[in-house]
Amino acid sequence: MRLYAILRVFTIAGFTASMAFSSTVFCQQASATDPTGYFQQSYSIADQVHLLRQGAGFHVEVIGNVTVVEQTDGLVLIDAGGSPGAGRRVVELVHGISTKPVKAVVITHWHGDHHFGLSEVLKEWPHAIVIATASAESNMNKRGLPAHPDAAFDAAQKINFDRLIKGFTDQSQAAPDETERKYFAEEAHEEQLYSEDFRGISIRYANVTFADHMSLLDDAAPVEIMFLGKTHTDGDAIVWLPKQKVVVTGDAVVSPVPFWRSAYPVEWISVLEKIRSLGYTVLIPGHGVPQTDTTYVDTLIATLQSVNTQVAALAGKGLSLDETQASVDLSSSERAFAGTDPKLAEQVKSNWIPLVACSYAEAKHIPIIQGKPCGPLQQ
Ligand SMILES: [Zn+2]
Repeated sequence: MRLYAILRVFTIAGFTASMAFSSTVFCQQASATDPTGYFQQSYSIADQVHLLRQGAGFHVEVIGNVTVVEQTDGLVLIDAGGSPGAGRRVVELVHGISTKPVKAVVITHWHGDHHFGLSEVLKEWPHAIVIATASAESNMNKRGLPAHPDAAFDAAQKINFDRLIKGFTDQSQAAPDETERKYFAEEAHEEQLYSEDFRGISIRYANVTFADHMSLLDDAAPVEIMFLGKTHTDGDAIVWLPKQKVVVTGDAVVSPVPFWRSAYPVEWISVLEKIRSLGYTVLIPGHGVPQTDTTYVDTLIATLQSVNTQVAALAGKGLSLDETQASVDLSSSERAFAGTDPKLAEQVKSNWIPLVACSYAEAKHIPIIQGKPCGPLQQ
């Protein structure tokens, strides 16, 4: 996986038809000109709350969800889009929601699919403050991205993108049936779109950091920004809108397939329990559709508990990571996440590898380093 492909995940149309997880009422038809749903669209979630997210379908290049909260004197964004192109669409969609300026942007964590659009957002609203946990801010600063658009950097990236596009195109042409041909052709198409979106990238940082908690007060839509513990990264911000009872989790919750590279499986459970205890009516995940009950969170908690219990026992017996990977049984969670969808099952299965590796690292007290895989199997 190359440096900037931080997270790849399925979002499946009709997912709830075969799944036990909560259905969403925040539906919108995909545009006929955007059949794969790569481009974000705007969804109304509650009074003063909108969501900008990718449509249904498999996304080879994902864009983190962006939540827009309308306060009395301006807008608060939670995340900023995953590329300059995605950031420009955020700007356009926000203008369609309100004439108020963006006053603050909360970056939930350091992964680029959530903040690479920040440069474009700040171009439009240069006075907006940018908020993140101190460790998210620190990791945003370590990625080696240019401070200003850089033609040489873009040219080097284009070589990578062209190679990926050719790979998907070749796979499409060699595919044994129409379903596979279409699948890989759509991946090539999205990689092309992302390649264009990525051009002109330059990094912006948080200028306000917090350790535990920060409030953006407002009568209509107060915003509580919290660090509840390590989950998907070591500095995930969770945002709670107490008036609307909406929680925005960043990638502490990703659906329909959870993602756990460089993660903290033990602490993650307690954070999910705290999120569940908020009594939300809507949960906006870092990717995927909003959730209106705790079913998915319950499944995440049960999965993490199962993994940690199994891995601790196996590691305690002296098994190596490879042996532990081979011995852990996650078939019940696999069915819970993937239902009968074979592509989804494939994705869920491949994501067990980093989860087990991180759980093993925690059981063995091996430090987990952001941006690095927890174990040798994830190279
Ligand atoms: Zn993400």
